[in-house]
Amino acid sequence: MSNLRTIAVIGGGISGLSTAYALHEQAAAAGIPIRCTVVDSAPVWGGKIITHRIGDLVTEAGPDSFLSQKPAGLELCDKLGLTDQLINTNETGKRASVYSRGRLHELPEGLVMIAPSQLGPFLRSGLLSLAGLARMGLDLAVPVKRSQDDESLASFFRRRVGRQAFERMIEPLMAGIYAGDAEQMSLQATFPRFVELEQQYGSVIRGMMASRKDGPPATRSGPKRTMFISLKNGLSDLVAALVHRLTDQGVTLRGNCVVDALRVRSHQPGRWMYDVILHDGSALSVDSLVLATPAYVSAELVRPLTPIAGGLLEMIPYSSTATIAMAYPRAAVSSAAEGFGFVVPRAEGRDLIAATWTSLKWPHRAPPDQLLVRCYVGGVGREAILQLDDQALVARVREELASMCGVTAKPGFVEINRWTRAMPQYTLGHLERLNQIEAALSRYGGLVLTGAGYRGVGIPDCIRDGALAAERVIRYLSGERS
Ligand SMILES: Cc1cc2nc3c(=O)[nH]c(=O)nc-3n(C[C@H](O)[C@H](O)[C@H](O)COP(=O)(O)OP(=O)(O)OC[C@H]3O[C@@H](n4cnc5c(N)ncnc54)[C@H](O)[C@@H]3O)c2cc1C
Repeated sequence: MSNLRTIAVIGGGISGLSTAYALHEQAAAAGIPIRCTVVDSAPVWGGKIITHRIGDLVTEAGPDSFLSQKPAGLELCDKLGLTDQLINTNETGKRASVYSRGRLHELPEGLVMIAPSQLGPFLRSGLLSLAGLARMGLDLAVPVKRSQDDESLASFFRRRVGRQAFERMIEPLMAGIYAGDAEQMSLQATFPRFVELEQQYGSVIRGMMASRKDGPPATRSGPKRTMFISLKNGLSDLVAALVHRLTDQGVTLRGNCVVDALRVRSHQPGRWMYDVILHDGSALSVDSLVLATPAYVSAELVRPLTPIAGGLLEMIPYSSTATIAMAYPRAAVSSAAEGFGFVVPRAEGRDLIAATWTSLKWPHRAPPDQLLVRCYVGGVGREAILQLDDQALVARVREELASMCGVTAKPGFVEINRWTRAMPQYTLGHLERLNQIEAALSRYGGLVLTGAGYRGVGIPDCIRDGALAAERVIRYLSGERS
């Protein structure tokens, strides 16, 4: 019997590609010869990471940056030789704003979520009333929740800092990332740090002040990075570098190839073989399988093996959104566009979730005489706008920009990207559901799930989870060998 072990990774988004990369790295370290195939239904690699370059404009259809504080993204860029392509956000002196009660309020510099470094600018911003600020300060005295039960983001922050700070500041910043509804989102699954802060310090504000005093958890050497970073020519360069490296390593990349089903081919103690059934009717036989597809796709694939896991995976909802990029002659909008952009609280009842002044936030995104903006709409409970056709959608977004920040000029360039069932929602009980899914799948040796649907939606989370998935596969294959 050959020692060569075969692995299929289904899904060639950042999760699947980084899993394949980690599989090669870890198999080499463990001395296990592998043959890995990545299969994706789309003709291009990278899943939601799509950069468009149109003349001198660089637009991102999906993610436009990633967090530098989570090391997996930076580390992967380093390994792929992309470090010199990394860019920080522009130093404009101004940052993000919140649209509230008819005007934009700049979030004061030094505001780390809810622990302002200086109270003065925070008061002057007018975002919270004196009563709202006083209630926020009560966080220092509100008793700690004793039960270990999961709690919604809304319930946690209303309890700790009051309704006003939650609605005007926390909801748009935190729920907006997920295009989600804070009333349904699990705090433990989305922002577990806040649960820890409450337990450890008895107060979120005290905890955040203490963390700031202690400095960042790991001080890394190298150039200073802003909180969000990107790649000079767009995030698709990360995908291109991964694809290039995987090809060099002998990984087979099969695009335009829909996986229709999975079957157990054979099962002996400690050794499973799976058939990956492709849309053309052919099958790929492998020792191990990583599903890096959205949870609702993985649900259908595993259902014939375990209906319980299939049912639980299907319970992870996904919200739909759209991004609308527009470029303006700079002179026509320069007085309206300030800082990096703004977020819009759900309580405002508007269609816009957020707008980013892309070319003010990032270098190299538009020529100096143009201004590129990206508007974000949709999300849980706000998906009705996505029913509009392209023309009506752009008209609606332009109305929003006009009324919120006075941009009335006609854009010279418009690009719409619609994202159907794109953003996984970690609703109450998410972590418990993941445990149940793992338990239901545990009898299928070498079958592993990864992807944005489970343990983090951000790019660094997906990369980290891909590496963990690879570790589980290599451990399984090592056990089998011994
Ligand atoms: C509009 C938007 C903005 C975002 N902004 C940011 C941001 O700024 N920063 C950040 O860190 N994150 C951001 N995210 C989140 C992040 O982009 C995603 O969570 C991440 O890219 C998901 O990667 P993935 O590989 O898990 O899934 P995907 O990218 O969805 O990849 C899954 C792959 O599976 C394939 N597939 C599906 N079905 C099959 C099948 N039957 N057979 C074969 N292949 C199949 C698909 O074609 C796809 O390529 C954003 C997301 C969106 C939608």
